[in-house]
Amino acid sequence: MAASGKIASFRLPPLPTIGEVIKLYKLRATKQLSQNFLLDLRLTDKIVRQAGNLKGAHVCEVGPGPGGLTRSILNAGAADLLVVEKDTRFIPGLQLLSEAAPGKLRIVHGDILTYRMDRGFPAVISKSWEEDPPNLHIIGNLPFNVSTPLIIKWLEYMANRTGPFTFGRTRLTLTFQKEVAERLTASAASRQRSRLSVMAQYLCTVHSCFTIPGRAFVPKPEVDVGVVHFTPLARPQIQQPFKLVEKVVRNAFQFRRKYCYKGIELLFPERKRPELVEAMLKEADVDPTLRPTELTLAQFRALADAYAGLCTRDPSLFSYEFREELRLNRLTRRTGTPTDPPTPACPPVPC
Ligand code: SAM
Repeated sequence: MAASGKIASFRLPPLPTIGEVIKLYKLRATKQLSQNFLLDLRLTDKIVRQAGNLKGAHVCEVGPGPGGLTRSILNAGAADLLVVEKDTRFIPGLQLLSEAAPGKLRIVHGDILTYRMDRGFPAVISKSWEEDPPNLHIIGNLPFNVSTPLIIKWLEYMANRTGPFTFGRTRLTLTFQKEVAERLTASAASRQRSRLSVMAQYLCTVHSCFTIPGRAFVPKPEVDVGVVHFTPLARPQIQQPFKLVEKVVRNAFQFRRKYCYKGIELLFPERKRPELVEAMLKEADVDPTLRPTELTLAQFRALADAYAGLCTRDPSLFSYEFREELRLNRLTRRTGTPTDPPTPACPPVPC
């Protein structure tokens, strides 16, 4: 019996290798599902170590496939591992693993983009946002075609404390195409600085762990892969609604190489543009001739606060989209009849 307060360590019994599992179940990689497998368990162990101590932890693994990373998570001592896999062909191999780790592995056949993770774990593991993170981790060697939309979705969930973040500041350890990993961690003035850098870093501590060369995967992808660890911040660096921050950042990066005011002015209707962009940049104390890539998080915070202030004074501003104005102008030129802008479907100022 384990000493009180200690969790007995667990090792999986001898199993067929991942290569043998692939052969046994005829698991040829499908390009459509961006399947590139990791067969080297030293590498999957290294990914899992980036998540921190998993003894007794609850873990959700995204896209377990033939189960290499899954084995490493179980060997690291996770008490409850929920895997979400879209491709049915992998389920029998995962069931074999589940039998080798009784009571520890739950298999969900589903799509991570729609899976309700808030229902996947017991409420008792929840921690309040300000406390230390809960003992719940998300780990995944993500399919490339899913990784970017998924992290954007999870960042919004993080801002709203929904989905996996109903349990508190759930940590994530995920793989990305190296170029995306570099964008996620890029600081101001670096060549890779982008929308994704600002959106991720205002909400989390983002740490680039290491790079896996493409040749480590079967089949070999065209690119190398970066492992990135995210810890949601107890206090996000920008205290405005996600949609508002997202709109400011999206507009600011409209023209990467031009002065930042060029993109920022597109937040405002043409006829009010010069006066409102001047007011916003003045209020934020941001030099209009900086490039968007040079703006720091503190400057984005000041810009978001200044824009929120302008939206409070004129609530119709938030629903304004310059592309829609351009479209209506083009239509008017073609038909000769002025067209009214559409009535916003949602409240102009996000709550
Ligand atoms: N984790 C395995 C490994 O490291 O060898 C497989 C990684 S492979 C890059 C991605 C896995 O995600 C595949 O098993 C694929 O079927 C699965 N997958 C793809 N899209 C998915 C989705 N939307 N939801 C859940 N799983 C998905």
